[in-house]
Amino acid sequence: MESTRLAGHSLPNEGRIKDPSGYGWLVVGPATCSCGAQSEPLTTDNARKRWHRDVHKAAVRAAQETSR
Ligand SMILES: [Zn+2]
Repeated sequence: MESTRLAGHSLPNEGRIKDPSGYGWLVVGPATCSCGAQSEPLTTDNARKRWHRDVHKAAVRAAQETSR
């Protein structure tokens, strides 16, 4: 089974987005990977985690495989 970890790609704050004011967390917003990639705005933490795992990291892996 393949590891779900990918060097250089982590999702800060479990997919939560800090409120710009510094208090609390936003409900709706894009997931942002530590590499700088962003999703479209999503409405739940779980949707952001799913995007990171199933969409973003899958795309990064696919790109790594085709560049070999
Ligand atoms: Zn990334």
